[in-house]
Amino acid sequence: MSALSPAELKPLFPILQQDVNGHPLVYLDSAATSQKPRQVIEAVQRYYERDNANVHRGVHTLGTRATDAYEGAREKVARFINARSASEIVFTRGATTSINTVAASYARAVCKPGDEIVISPIEHHANLIPWQQAAKATGATLKHLPMNDDGSFDLAGAAATITPNTKMVAVTHLSNVLGAVTPVEEIIALAHKHGAKVLLDGAQSAPHLKIDVQKLDCDFFAFSGHKMCGPTGIGALYGKRELLEAMEPVEFGGEMIDYVDLFDATWKEIPWRFEAGTPIIAGAVGLGAAIDFLTEVGMENIEAHDRQLAAYAWERLSAMDGVSVYGPASGRTSLVTFNLEDVHPHDVATVLDAEGVAVRAGHHCCQPLMRWLKVSATARASFYLYNDESDVDRLIASLQRAKEYFG
Ligand code: PLP
Repeated sequence: MSALSPAELKPLFPILQQDVNGHPLVYLDSAATSQKPRQVIEAVQRYYERDNANVHRGVHTLGTRATDAYEGAREKVARFINARSASEIVFTRGATTSINTVAASYARAVCKPGDEIVISPIEHHANLIPWQQAAKATGATLKHLPMNDDGSFDLAGAAATITPNTKMVAVTHLSNVLGAVTPVEEIIALAHKHGAKVLLDGAQSAPHLKIDVQKLDCDFFAFSGHKMCGPTGIGALYGKRELLEAMEPVEFGGEMIDYVDLFDATWKEIPWRFEAGTPIIAGAVGLGAAIDFLTEVGMENIEAHDRQLAAYAWERLSAMDGVSVYGPASGRTSLVTFNLEDVHPHDVATVLDAEGVAVRAGHHCCQPLMRWLKVSATARASFYLYNDESDVDRLIASLQRAKEYFG
């Protein structure tokens, strides 16, 4: 497989062909949402122009085409993460909805007082608040895996934190702030030793790492389409068949039922019992097209490129006087989080934007992690397959000017 060439890929993304504030746009906010290649935009447009109908109901031709497109996208998602079958893929609005589904259904059904739900202090609010709520509702204890000083996981501490009372472990696969890949293999082995189930928050990992849920042996995997070149509003929950089959739906209505009378109802098989109402059909079609695109480029190539680019950015930012970078120095990919001494990150981001460089500033939906880092907010530059070292060089040059401006 040939190496990835951002110079060839960038022209495939129409939005990147523009000037912002008089400068060619350098988009370094893909961890918030990625840009979409033309083939994804066209797939959604083609679907609406040719095939649009509701799924699973119509016997007419468009209904069949829409159903085939929707279920075909499910097959693509299953292959993309190497699920055993498409029935293990539930379409959701994104990682947030996927995690909420497991917390509201699986966790509430299995947890009782005395049980433990284990998460980590570096989680995105999407993988934190649903577990707080599940713990409150069930009387289970919420515990946090210990971290090393550099923000990496303390595996010896994890071995002591996960116990025979642990029912559920939910961790990020790749931190949206620290950019560090979690040692999930070790954490999954620890959890399984005690019979606990593991959910991986793959919102950041699915775009940047080749995912194999069978090899990982995670029980649930949650991710969003919009961070991996797909449309907003679509994502997926992978769950092992036997777990999904044992779970109750959390939303009720049309599409998810088998038989209904005036007082009761039965559910369809998995995955449809978790997809109440008209699903996000065009979104699924777009996600399928994004998966085709990423697969053509090659997830191995994307993984190697994003790791290399994050390492380059880390090196350049670390070498700058008055710049703090956060997270472990190694085992990272896709993003670097930083602060310019004595300057609020919002001001840094505003000055960078004036030069056409788009970075994110704020708490990144990780307020507890900000407190742990002893900052109120940070700036974050995040990369994807369309970025290259020249984008990092633009970031550094603009940051240098910001430093002089505020200095
Ligand atoms: N988890 C992580 C690590 C994230 O970075 C995000 C989004 O930034 C989410 C979960 C939530 O994703 P979404 O808003 O697409 O549901």
